[in-house]
Amino acid sequence: MNVALVSVGDELLSGDTVNTNAAWLGECLTERGADVERATTVPDREADIARVVNEYAAEYDAVITTGGLGPTHDDRTIEGVAAAVGREVETNETALEWLATEGGYQHEDLAEGTAELPVGARPLHNTEGVAPGCVIENVYVLPGVPEEMKAMFERVEDDFEGETRHVAFVVVDEPESALISRFEELQERFDVTVGSYPGDHVRVKIQSPDEDAVDEAAAWLHENADVL
Ligand code: ATP
Ligand code: MG
Repeated sequence: MNVALVSVGDELLSGDTVNTNAAWLGECLTERGADVERATTVPDREADIARVVNEYAAEYDAVITTGGLGPTHDDRTIEGVAAAVGREVETNETALEWLATEGGYQHEDLAEGTAELPVGARPLHNTEGVAPGCVIENVYVLPGVPEEMKAMFERVEDDFEGETRHVAFVVVDEPESALISRFEELQERFDVTVGSYPGDHVRVKIQSPDEDAVDEAAAWLHENADVL
């Protein structure tokens, strides 16, 4: 399955906050065998959220948004997602009840709008915070606070499955340009894909659904390159 990530937040675009949520989700989803094909960051603006979510919901098997939940004026994600799927927003009674019984919040204690979700959404309770997330059609709406986001993702992670990939990283002490023909040969000899990430050294990522192919390809590179 393929997945698109939509990170919501002005602070991500201005660089005040590093987008660790997209990196964490990308890693988790890839490990589970789902293909993350887009990661887009949008401001806290309903129309921008709606436009991107609408496009990605049509294009990809699933969309995961993070951030912009909750009832404050700059939290626009629920409205944006509702618009994207053509729904109204309403107080979700299941979410409200959970907040009262499990969260210890009575309706009157909650800021107005806290339990508002798109009509027909399945609420996702926020065990680490207050504002609920939800699933509506193929859109998963998660909080921005990393701990809240991770805990909520765990409740839905089984929805994201594919062929498990095996991965090996090999660090090579040669210039990347010198490795091109060996990368080609690796992919010809073994049923693997090869990624190359230059920095102080070149980190070579070898991956395949076939664990033996990964092991054999890594061993071949060890023999045929200046590996650290
Ligand atoms: P709350 O319900 O507490 O308002 P929220 O879901 O509305 O949470 P935001 O208001 O968007 O989330 O962000 C809450 C906090 O989480 C902020 O400190 C923000 O910088 C941080 N945060 C938001 N998005 C990300 C992200 N993609 N990566 C890392 N941190 C993030
Ligand atoms: Mg917020």
